[in-house]
Amino acid sequence: MFRLIQLHTDAGVPRIGVDADGYVSARAALARYRTAPATFFAVGRFDHEGTLTEVILDPACGLDGACQRPAAVIHAKTFQRLCENCAAGLDVLTVPQLARRLGIACRLAPPVTTHRRNTIGTMRSPSGNRIAREFPDHVHDPAWRQELCGELSQSPTALNGLLIGAGALSHRQVLDLYPALCALGEELPTGVRNDLSRATARPLSPAGVAGLRLGLG
Ligand SMILES: [Zn+2]
Repeated sequence: MFRLIQLHTDAGVPRIGVDADGYVSARAALARYRTAPATFFAVGRFDHEGTLTEVILDPACGLDGACQRPAAVIHAKTFQRLCENCAAGLDVLTVPQLARRLGIACRLAPPVTTHRRNTIGTMRSPSGNRIAREFPDHVHDPAWRQELCGELSQSPTALNGLLIGAGALSHRQVLDLYPALCALGEELPTGVRNDLSRATARPLSPAGVAGLRLGLG
């Protein structure tokens, strides 16, 4: 039995949430996962007693919706899958390191064979990566936030940078930056703000964590 799982850290301790719906194959579960990648972390394989025995990760980089390069590592705090390009300058884990951290076997699913728009993916600069790196040091800056909101309204690729940037903050940083985070929550393009507000109903999802930290929901 396969189910979609959520993962986030609570004061550095990984916590896993399990979705109610079950799937007979990892492939079917991954297909469902891909319809809502910001809501879930991965596919979990469960044994007959309902114990999580294996975590199966989507094989594509999750930072940037247009990236789609093969994932190579996992962001150390938000557990987003990243390709080598998008991981540059970020704190990451290898898949075996993630498995040790969770105490559960982890693997990347086989690569997806459908044709991707690779030329777009490889030509686009990894803006999500830059946003994730700059987030903690710049979110207090109104001009930086305005630029971010401009990017968010022009391209969905910036959203994952926001999710990683907000998700990777320590509890201490969230407290210190809370006024700036709430200001950003107010300034977000309407569509993004509505999506993140709705996501707070699933507080373990990357979008839910970001929404709560931006004072939404
Ligand atoms: Zn990438």
